[in-house]
Amino acid sequence: MSESAIRTRIAPSPTGDPHVGTAYVALFNYCFARKHGGQFILRIEDTDTARSSRQSEEAILSSLRWLGLAWDEGPEVGGPCGPYRQSERAELYRRTAGQLLEAGHAFRCFCKPDRLARMREEQKAAGKRPGYDGQCLSLSDSEVQSRLGHSEPFVIRMKVPREGTCVIQDLLRGNIEIAWDTVDMQVLLKADAMPTYHLANVVDDHAMGITHILRGEEWINSAPKHKLLYEYLGWSMPVLCHLPLLRNPDKSKLSKRKNPTSLLFYKRMGYLPEALLNYLGLMAWSMPNGEEKFSLNAMVQEFSLERISLGGPVFDLRKLDWLNGRWIREDLDDDQFAERVRQWALNERWALNERFLKQWGPLVRSRIAVLSDLGPLLAPFFSGIISITPELLLDGKLDRNAVSTGLALALDRIENVEWNKDEIEKMLRDVAAEMGAKLRDALRPFYVAITGSAVSVPLFDAMEILGRDLCRARLRHAREVLKH
Ligand code: GLU
Repeated sequence: MSESAIRTRIAPSPTGDPHVGTAYVALFNYCFARKHGGQFILRIEDTDTARSSRQSEEAILSSLRWLGLAWDEGPEVGGPCGPYRQSERAELYRRTAGQLLEAGHAFRCFCKPDRLARMREEQKAAGKRPGYDGQCLSLSDSEVQSRLGHSEPFVIRMKVPREGTCVIQDLLRGNIEIAWDTVDMQVLLKADAMPTYHLANVVDDHAMGITHILRGEEWINSAPKHKLLYEYLGWSMPVLCHLPLLRNPDKSKLSKRKNPTSLLFYKRMGYLPEALLNYLGLMAWSMPNGEEKFSLNAMVQEFSLERISLGGPVFDLRKLDWLNGRWIREDLDDDQFAERVRQWALNERWALNERFLKQWGPLVRSRIAVLSDLGPLLAPFFSGIISITPELLLDGKLDRNAVSTGLALALDRIENVEWNKDEIEKMLRDVAAEMGAKLRDALRPFYVAITGSAVSVPLFDAMEILGRDLCRARLRHAREVLKH
């Protein structure tokens, strides 16, 4: 294969905020493709129609652009293998599922959800691994025809050997053996004729000429299904390279409950894209000269897959802060620094942009005598984590235990709130009720945690504007402060 034929891809699912893990995997795919003069492709995996949204897709695209990880083919730029959004390629997956059926590599499964749920319960109770038991494998042709005749809903599942082991070749990890009896007879096409991830992913990687798949290690267990599909379809499989997972300081998989994961958070906090990319690069890779600070271009120049290390990289905000500080001090002249600050202050919606001023103008106007009084009122909107003391958090009617419980309850609920001030208010009213406290008393420490002061701008508006990630981070910080 000539080097220029290398094609890599990032294939995010647009569900929720753009994830720092997407940027991490994109970075490695980008560097590998650029180093070898190949192409880096962006594909949107939005077949889960209930969870996917255009808003999320746009946030992913703009975050990758902010980071400077430009894609050669994909949404907004087009390319010869489009469309690059899976929801627009449904016909291709249906046709492929039909081919697999025809060739006897897949079968129609008419099992109803309640039978499948019962089956899983029984398997769990018997200490067995949950997985399809193969009931519909033995349906005769005439039975299938008659059920189709009655328009019974069905899914298409792939056949999977029950014996032996599948050997997956991973560029970083060598041969990985996975016993076939641990691999489920995966649904390929759902009852609504939409594909699952596995089918769409394989079909598209093939159709888009992807040569190397660099993705997170959480996908290793999917690889046997993919390998089998490539074999069934007579296609050659791209080279696999599973990158080490990013981890929380306690070594668990990076999660927003323990660490900010949204790229929007890092942007709003005022991390420089160069520094964030540099840090993500360091998570699994190192420069031959050992230098910790390097640019994207330098990483591309020196990039080689052999330098990827498989340790469990811990995402450590303090180290990122240190690196970001270096980028701010060492790489921007005074004019560039001024320009960055201006961009950040004007563009991030919780600082000084138009929308912010329109939302805030009417609220803060009643609280000031001269415009410069805005300074302290707006300070929490320019800040990341604000400094607060236990005394301030506890100067209301509630004791330490009650405040801590309230914060914990809110941290739990915050994940499922639709992010607007009415829903936020409802959530905090529920928290107060659950604490058995008066609303005023219960809200006081939240004012402190979120705005730094018990007398400040309206809380629910403030939370809406700050965004979920920063509110989560501040509530978590308040809990930490209370422990001391
Ligand atoms: N859509 C998958 C994701 O969200 C892609 C996984 C893969 O790269 O195969 O990460």
